[in-house]
Amino acid sequence: MTISTDRPVAVITGASSGIGAATARELAGRGFHVFLGARRTELSEKIAAEIDGTALPLDVTDVDSVSAFAAAIPTARVLVNNAGGAKGMASVRDADEEHWRWMWETNVLGTLRVTRALLPALLASGDGHIITVTSVAALETYDNGAGYTSAKHAQAALHRTLRGELLGEPIRLTEIAPGLVETEFSLVRFDGDEDKADKVYAGLTPLTAGDVAEVIGFAVSRPSHVNLDTIVLKPRDQASATRAFRRS
Ligand code: NAP
Repeated sequence: MTISTDRPVAVITGASSGIGAATARELAGRGFHVFLGARRTELSEKIAAEIDGTALPLDVTDVDSVSAFAAAIPTARVLVNNAGGAKGMASVRDADEEHWRWMWETNVLGTLRVTRALLPALLASGDGHIITVTSVAALETYDNGAGYTSAKHAQAALHRTLRGELLGEPIRLTEIAPGLVETEFSLVRFDGDEDKADKVYAGLTPLTAGDVAEVIGFAVSRPSHVNLDTIVLKPRDQASATRAFRRS
């Protein structure tokens, strides 16, 4: 079933928590009908109810799920490719192939599948905008992080390639590359280990999901001839993926 709406449509993947959930609220506040895609629909449905949006089941690693998701969306002005994350931290020597597969399937192939499925609708809107949430891990590598940094580099390469391939079409492309943002990201990375997750943000003030969402809202709300290509945002205390100032 396709849901009709008279508001411009924004589609967000991974909208059940963190940056995706905050972006759903931000874009709804800017007048969009937001379609929230995620596997945990019990979470995305609550957010959808708050913002008069629509929650749909979505597993970006599953071709059929992506097809059904796209088929339910009537039009699309904005797509936020946000679903993603990391699993584990291991050296290349000790790499866990299952973790690598999860990261590549979710961040890279997930972005490919959803972008391809929604591209016709974005083009047909006459003013499309693809936002992809990559990471500082798309700009740098770090020890014990090759599974994630390689996936984020690949996701960014896909996104940046579209900037050339779609040149001349009515579509903007913005890459958002955040540093440390306190969300469920580290809990997922460390398989629910709260102590390990807390240490990632210890001694500094990390970005919030809302900080990133506001920047996405700003990019989306520029006049359609203005394309913010890449936005890197980090906490004041973070200089690079591996260098941060922590107060004890
Ligand atoms: P988060 O709170 O863990 O959110 C991740 C979101 O992705 C969840 O809504 C999750 O929803 C969704 N997701 C995961 N696998 C999925 C799948 N197979 N199909 C559909 N949705 C899926 O973490 P976050 O920090 O907001 O992460 C959002 C994005 O920001 C990710 O791409 C991440 O790599 C990137 N990022 C995060 C940070 C950071 O420090 N937090 C920094 C830079 C970049 P379900 O589990 O309900 O499906």
